[in-house]
Amino acid sequence: MSFQSTFYRSLIYFHAIIAIAEFLLTFTLIIAVLHNSEIFFKITGPDDEDWNLIAEGYRIAIWILFLIACLLDYYHYRVWWHYKPQFTDIGFFFEMPTTPLSRKHKRYIPYHLLGDHRTESFGDRTCSAGVHCKNRQLEHIFIFHFRGYNPQRRYFDIIRADNPKNLYIGFHQTDPASAVLIAHSDFRISTGSRSTMLGHGIYFARSREGTEKKANRRGAFICAEINMGRVFYIRSHKRSVYSGKKTWWSTHDTAYYCHRDPKFDEFCVKSPNQILRWIIVIEKQFDKKVENYGLDTEFDDTKCGCF
Ligand SMILES: [Zn+2]
Ligand SMILES: [Zn+2]
Repeated sequence: MSFQSTFYRSLIYFHAIIAIAEFLLTFTLIIAVLHNSEIFFKITGPDDEDWNLIAEGYRIAIWILFLIACLLDYYHYRVWWHYKPQFTDIGFFFEMPTTPLSRKHKRYIPYHLLGDHRTESFGDRTCSAGVHCKNRQLEHIFIFHFRGYNPQRRYFDIIRADNPKNLYIGFHQTDPASAVLIAHSDFRISTGSRSTMLGHGIYFARSREGTEKKANRRGAFICAEINMGRVFYIRSHKRSVYSGKKTWWSTHDTAYYCHRDPKFDEFCVKSPNQILRWIIVIEKQFDKKVENYGLDTEFDDTKCGCF
């Protein structure tokens, strides 16, 4: 446990102390006003030196408390919304990139927020629209839907008018070290002949579950918004023809492979430029932050209502 995580945990109690102080201050102020209303409501303002001093003291105290509360909330917000995993176990020789995060990297989502962890109790439910959900926000898809959820129909079943920008949500699974490299630069094209069944490119599935079958690296899920461009249709029996080559690159931007089981459709894009934005989840085994900071129990413990 670092100083930061200890500070974060104590912050919750500090928050409570500030709230109590604010309450007491307001309470005594009300008492003071009730007992000396003629002074507080005098149109010319109080001339009495003592009362001036007390009023000034209250003003300063209220501002200081307000400022502290704001700083705490800001820190709280930083930890959650600009979440950064504390990587562990991701390879002895791995060095954290020093380059800034890619502009396409929207955020890391702490793993305990994934839809599979929703308890379905009040205030902790998955999306009520279920399979009919039209929300294409990447965060919404990860946080409010299960791992088998397909945000969209199979690519070729989508009516063009319903998707004028020709965007598709894709899921990619890799190991945490590769995910970090992506976050700090971009996706890279796979060219190995055995791993690229649809040809050279960057591979995606229609759901988190859809990535399981083929993933040879595990521990990190990426959910991305992709510009499909011109899409090449590959039927299930034709797949091996394109393996390890870039046959369709000259005429198309994406190859979409229709599996016999629609759950396991895959597609392959030829350029990282087609990937517009993404969010990343690092699985529990490789991220110690949620536990160190107690993020997973924060709401059960305190029911902190501040955001
Ligand atoms: Zn939804
Ligand atoms: Zn709070």
